[in-house]
Amino acid sequence: MNKSYQVIIIGGGPAGLTAGLYCARSRLDTLLIEKGIIGGQITNAERVENYPGFPKGISGMELGQLIYEQAISYGLETVLADVTGAALVRRRNMVSTSEGDFTSESIIIATGSQYRKLGVPGEDTLVGKGVSYCATCDGPLFRDKAVAVVGGGDAAVSEALYLSKFASSVKVIHRRNQLRASKVLQERAMNEPKIEFVWDNVVTQIEGDGVLRQVSLKNTGDARISVLEVTGVFVAIGSEPNSAVWRGLLSLDEGGYIITNELMETKVPGVFAAGDVRHNSARQAISAAGDGATASISAQRFLSI
Ligand SMILES: Cc1cc2nc3c(=O)[nH]c(=O)nc-3n(C[C@H](O)[C@H](O)[C@H](O)COP(=O)(O)OP(=O)(O)OC[C@H]3O[C@@H](n4cnc5c(N)ncnc54)[C@H](O)[C@@H]3O)c2cc1C
Repeated sequence: MNKSYQVIIIGGGPAGLTAGLYCARSRLDTLLIEKGIIGGQITNAERVENYPGFPKGISGMELGQLIYEQAISYGLETVLADVTGAALVRRRNMVSTSEGDFTSESIIIATGSQYRKLGVPGEDTLVGKGVSYCATCDGPLFRDKAVAVVGGGDAAVSEALYLSKFASSVKVIHRRNQLRASKVLQERAMNEPKIEFVWDNVVTQIEGDGVLRQVSLKNTGDARISVLEVTGVFVAIGSEPNSAVWRGLLSLDEGGYIITNELMETKVPGVFAAGDVRHNSARQAISAAGDGATASISAQRFLSI
């Protein structure tokens, strides 16, 4: 058995690192467990222009590194390990990882979520170079450009409406001939002159030489192949939270996101969730950081009772 802590934070993205900064600066004995890249998802962002404090923008990798440096400067301990299970016992929780078991009085879960990918050639290599999963993050970079959105639910139609404020045209590519999005959103999108629908088509390939140039489409009915010239493609086919460990232990919504109140408290006293893994998160680096700060303050309150 490894050392015991006052707080264990799981996940080293903006939410977990900010929680770590607050806990360590308040002199709580805190361990942050991260299985991949310190900095989390934001390290994939070429340029972050909506995180306050950086008027000229900052690369996602640098932002993650800076938050990390700030947190460890106050004594935050970190370990590279995959959390695989937990036993929640009041003030003596056990967290099982690939590097052994750790115990703690409280836990902050900040494991984020993952955008669902199309899984087609070119997608991974052109992320940040035209391929995006977040219109709020990247939409303003496509002013007066032709873009496409893939998907047919609320998220896709909302992204298309948001993008229509910047882009010259927005093609919504959907594999069926009708949308799943709510009627209100559908009506708004149908009445927006910049938005056009490409029905019954799936993306088969994303192409470009360093930057996105075009996407290849295949008709789901007659298998006809066509090409769409765009400089941006926004994939909006859903996302999945990294919350499998908590199934059966905490309340999750129908999508698997952890349910908390506004203090980031889960239904189990002393266990908190913050950032993108949380139900109704705004899925932004700054909101994740804010959740992390709130979770840490709630954990401190729990520990002082
Ligand atoms: C390409 C891209 C561009 C983006 N651009 C922007 C932008 O411009 N502005 C903006 O505000 N947001 C942007 N975002 C969104 C932003 O990155 C997320 O909202 C933010 O990172 C969420 O922070 P988080 O800490 O909640 O989760 P994450 O950043 O996802 O961090 C969660 C961490 O938990 C770790 N983890 C998961 N499971 C386990 C486990 N079992 N054990 C141990 N560790 C685990 C993961 O490895 C990960 O590092 C972008 C996202 C992407 C993918």
